[in-house]
Amino acid sequence: MTQKILLIVGIGHSGSTILDMALGCHPRIIGLGEVSKVLRTPLAELRGPRYQTDVCSCGAIARECPFWGKMLTWLEDHHQLGLEQKYQELVDRFIAHYGNDRVMVDSSKTVRPYQAWLNQHHDLRAIHLTRDVRSWIDSRLRGHDHRDKGGTLRLAARWWRGNLRTERFLRRHHIRARNLGYEELALRPHVMLNKLCDWLDVDFDPGMLAPAGTGSHIIRGNRARQNSSTMSAIQYDSRWMTSSRLMLQSPLLLPLMQRNRRLVYANTGGAGRK
Ligand SMILES: [Zn+2]
Repeated sequence: MTQKILLIVGIGHSGSTILDMALGCHPRIIGLGEVSKVLRTPLAELRGPRYQTDVCSCGAIARECPFWGKMLTWLEDHHQLGLEQKYQELVDRFIAHYGNDRVMVDSSKTVRPYQAWLNQHHDLRAIHLTRDVRSWIDSRLRGHDHRDKGGTLRLAARWWRGNLRTERFLRRHHIRARNLGYEELALRPHVMLNKLCDWLDVDFDPGMLAPAGTGSHIIRGNRARQNSSTMSAIQYDSRWMTSSRLMLQSPLLLPLMQRNRRLVYANTGGAGRK
């Protein structure tokens, strides 16, 4: 049986948590977070304390989550199987749990070969989510990730390479995909979520605009999910606009602007302009 699966791809820190939470508030859409991370969990970690203490976005401890609990035990017993077999088991369990008329969301972000397999066996669609390169760099420079110590140019190269790899992968495997900008989503959530629902063939649900009430089961994904008070409305993080460091260095980013416009503002009319 084919399952409708929505993949959220792109580089990290591009707003996938907000998108995940918003989509998960739709009664016909179920978010499962970064599925490939769960399926690739090493045996020692499956047996370890991680899933005994981590909380799912549904509120239950991962091991007791009505969706993931039994799947984690199954993964432990079948750890020798390949990723594709594990994924098929997940889909079968999803259909048994929810029926065949829901959309499953996998926000694994990184493009990987199993997604080409999914495209051959299921009804796969992908959202390539991108954050404006200026806002992405600024948020990385403010973060505490040691990989971000290289400064603006190195971060710009990471943004460029990661998004290029994603675009090429989707094209090479003929995956039905659309571009979505974090800025489009956060600044015009009503318009953008309407368009996405249309594309997914489901009716728009106003509950998506207040993502705190998610019905998703996310055990691997951004930690912001656990702080539901910050997610009661979709808000745009605009701190980069007042960064003088970024303003001084912005000429360095000029060569990236065309791709930036095409990826981030595709739905709001920026794509055609030079
Ligand atoms: Zn759960």
